[in-house]
Amino acid sequence: MDRLGCVYLVGAGPGDPGLMTIKGRELLSSCDVVVYDHLASKRFLDWVPETCRKIYVGKQAGHHSMKQEEINDVLVELALSGHTVVRLKGGDPFVFGRGGEEILALEKHGIPYETVPGVTSAVAVPECAGIPVTHRAVSRSFHVITGHTQAGMECLPPDFGVYGTLPGTLVFLMGLGQLPLIAKQLIDSGKSPDTPAAVIENGTLPGERVVRAPLSQISSRVREAGLGTPAIIVVGDTAAYEMKYRTAGPLAGRRVGITGTEQFAGKLAAALSEQGAQVSWLVNMKVEDHIEEAPMQAAYRNLPSYTWLVFTSANGVRLFFQGLFKDGRDCRCLGHVKFAVIGDGTGRELSGYGFNADYMPDAYCAKALADGLVHAVSPGDRLLIARSAGGSPILAQTLLNAGIHFDDIVLYEVTGQPSASFIPEEVMGFDYITFASASGVRAFFDCLTQGGTGDKAVGIQGPAVHPKNPKLVCIGAVTARELERQGYKADITAAQYHIEGLVKAIIKDSFV
Ligand code: SAH
Repeated sequence: MDRLGCVYLVGAGPGDPGLMTIKGRELLSSCDVVVYDHLASKRFLDWVPETCRKIYVGKQAGHHSMKQEEINDVLVELALSGHTVVRLKGGDPFVFGRGGEEILALEKHGIPYETVPGVTSAVAVPECAGIPVTHRAVSRSFHVITGHTQAGMECLPPDFGVYGTLPGTLVFLMGLGQLPLIAKQLIDSGKSPDTPAAVIENGTLPGERVVRAPLSQISSRVREAGLGTPAIIVVGDTAAYEMKYRTAGPLAGRRVGITGTEQFAGKLAAALSEQGAQVSWLVNMKVEDHIEEAPMQAAYRNLPSYTWLVFTSANGVRLFFQGLFKDGRDCRCLGHVKFAVIGDGTGRELSGYGFNADYMPDAYCAKALADGLVHAVSPGDRLLIARSAGGSPILAQTLLNAGIHFDDIVLYEVTGQPSASFIPEEVMGFDYITFASASGVRAFFDCLTQGGTGDKAVGIQGPAVHPKNPKLVCIGAVTARELERQGYKADITAAQYHIEGLVKAIIKDSFV
């Protein structure tokens, strides 16, 4: 062993990436290995170096993918082999995070470590829902209690009754599965059935949902709403407060449902919230890359033979470079190629890697890109199109007809799933629903029809025929066309194909 590594136990905060400490983020951006679990989610992995090893040790109610002892062993082994490890933990490492156990294991092997506190969900999640855990003359203390017991379901610890006698705010973590029992025992041991209570699911995240009710009804109301984990239960007078920033800004009071990848949805949600909107993330799009598959591997190997690289999305650009760097290549393998991009957003992503686009069509669509390329390329050119599965066939068809040599290779695939806050019946309550890709449109309507009432989406018609109907907002023409293909019409199509363009278009509409 040459040198011992070091383990940093870093609190990731409650979920919103903006709530991680600067120190935590700096450590993430320079570590060799990150060991993360379910709560300290993938959202943070954007910040680690390209070469960083990512080890998921998962922990989700019900499925522990690695036992605590195994996690301890992983940390010890990594540090013994000289790595700088960030052990990323949801909230704060010492609040029901089992951080202490990991430290004892490290100490046993003489491994250096440091803890970096995080914003604990016990305080932050109620706060973001407008509930202060203490309040002058109302609550002089708060108590953070686990709802998870060794004994398992249907039973709480024998001394649980003491909590019912505590003044102040009670905050239960990991308690959703035991909610009926928790509420009953608190009432049995002295809490008034009318005590305000609240349950917050996915606090600080785009899918945040809050249910408030008196203690005697909270459990049935939460069941009706179908709240899931992670969730926090708050019991006490302050749970009735809603000190949520009464939204100012042009989108105050507007409810916007968004669709997109975690990364995209996070940025869009932040931009819309800044303008006062209330945002829910409805459909979670997942991008799966095909970088390791034979066609892309061959494309990387054959880079010297291509003279043009064609990108039709920012995701495509990002993943292409991810794959390029993975095997130790660098940008010098691209010195000889020209770049074509479909639009602004793709072009911007490309400039992030130090390349300006040589060609971008005036209109954001596959047809315009194809027609433009036919004129831009010279005889003998060879094009590599690296894009998503299910991309528009018109691009390949046009190039084929023009006799241009090209390889059209699947670089990634996008699939969609309803997020926790997607409730088909509630979709009608939104003022706007945003779409940022054709695959997002398809996934949204799939989710609606699977969870909805019939084979056609519930009640959405465009253009809005009822003031309560959500308006369907598209980031660009391609997305709008997919909406038409599904039998709907975009009410709004952004003039510029990026997040700011989308937000601007909604603001403009809200003034009408
Ligand atoms: N160390 C963490 C808590 C770990 S225990 C912290 O300081 O926050 C895990 C529990 O935290 C979950 O079961 C849930 O009760 C709560 N929790 C964490 N993040 C949450 C979130 N974003 N929304 C709601 N509850 C959350």
